[in-house]
Amino acid sequence: MKITEAKVIVCSPGRNFVTLKIVTDEGVYGIGDATLNGREKSVVSFLEDYLCPSLIGRDPQRIEDIWQFFYRGAYWRRGPVGMTAIAAIDTALWDIKAKLANMPLYQLLGGRSRDGVMVYTHANGHDIESTLEQVGKYVEKGYKAVRVQCGIPGIASTYGVPKGNKAYEPADSDLPSETSWSTEKYLNHIPQLFQEVRKQFGDDLHILHDVHHRLTPIEAARLGKEVEPYHLFWLEDCVPAENQEAFKLIRQHTTTPLAVGEVFNSIHDCRELIQNQLIDYIRTTVVHAGGITHLRRIADFAALYNVRTGSHGATDLSPVCMGAALHFDYWVPNFGIQEHMAHSEQMLEVFPHAYRFNDGYFTPGELPGHGVDINEELAAKYPYKRACLPVARLEDGTLWNW
Ligand SMILES: [Mg+2]
Repeated sequence: MKITEAKVIVCSPGRNFVTLKIVTDEGVYGIGDATLNGREKSVVSFLEDYLCPSLIGRDPQRIEDIWQFFYRGAYWRRGPVGMTAIAAIDTALWDIKAKLANMPLYQLLGGRSRDGVMVYTHANGHDIESTLEQVGKYVEKGYKAVRVQCGIPGIASTYGVPKGNKAYEPADSDLPSETSWSTEKYLNHIPQLFQEVRKQFGDDLHILHDVHHRLTPIEAARLGKEVEPYHLFWLEDCVPAENQEAFKLIRQHTTTPLAVGEVFNSIHDCRELIQNQLIDYIRTTVVHAGGITHLRRIADFAALYNVRTGSHGATDLSPVCMGAALHFDYWVPNFGIQEHMAHSEQMLEVFPHAYRFNDGYFTPGELPGHGVDINEELAAKYPYKRACLPVARLEDGTLWNW
């Protein structure tokens, strides 16, 4: 069996998605997500100019060898662009293998470990009241877990809070837009949000919150400590994690569970965090962390240290990644939770999919492969349009972490 074609499909049904389609001489094909938010064309070039030509003629069943060829075989390793490209290839190859076996992907991985995949969604309001309203809507829909974000008085636009009544989409302009940030205002306001959520919705709802890398370790420690009475499911990305050791300081001060890792692309980015039990949830995802093959290694390593998975799942990854992630989540023994930010109808039309939501949980479906396809004709109607993520500055103009 041989790979005869590897083509990259770029489309923008409301936001940019990059999809890799690998076709074999037996007619079976697989697809993988290759979307890297705000850097989409870099991955397109990496695949088209360097990796795809090397795929032609290879046996698609040799997933491990192909992964090693592109990772170990390359002089330049790791990095978001490279690992996203490898992830797309890997996901497409697992799709092919599962189709050949006539099995849903989770069966190939070892079968399901649970009845459904618990997901959390996003409640984002301009103030506490409107956030609570949104939480109520999701609770009614059956969600067991909700990420809560709200506007901060005195800050013009806050991470996670949409402009006007539109759905939140951070990659919102042709060039990076500038936002402002005040740690003091945020820290003084945000604990009230969790207090109100608990007051209104009781103790059973899982509450999550994303700080989006805005704090220093000692500030994160203060926040973690102050919100302990509200029993968060997790506090996400409270500091940037280039310095893995920084989490030691946070850990010394608080029992609030910590999650990090959506920007990681390799096991080496989280080795110390996991080994020293400095986090509780690892947020690496199929598309940005080298595909199923590498994500499985991260999850197995994390299991040794009681760290559970909580994969990133915003709309900056396509339904193809969501499908693959749900098969992974259905199987992985140390599963924690899966993020799910709903794709628009337009996006879901371009990517027909087998996964379904019911009462707070997803199931990946029983179609052979990962159960997600791409309607190429429809995709062609939505051409790429550059969209950049914003940057953030402190109130005095100093550039800060977005
Ligand atoms: Mg996040």
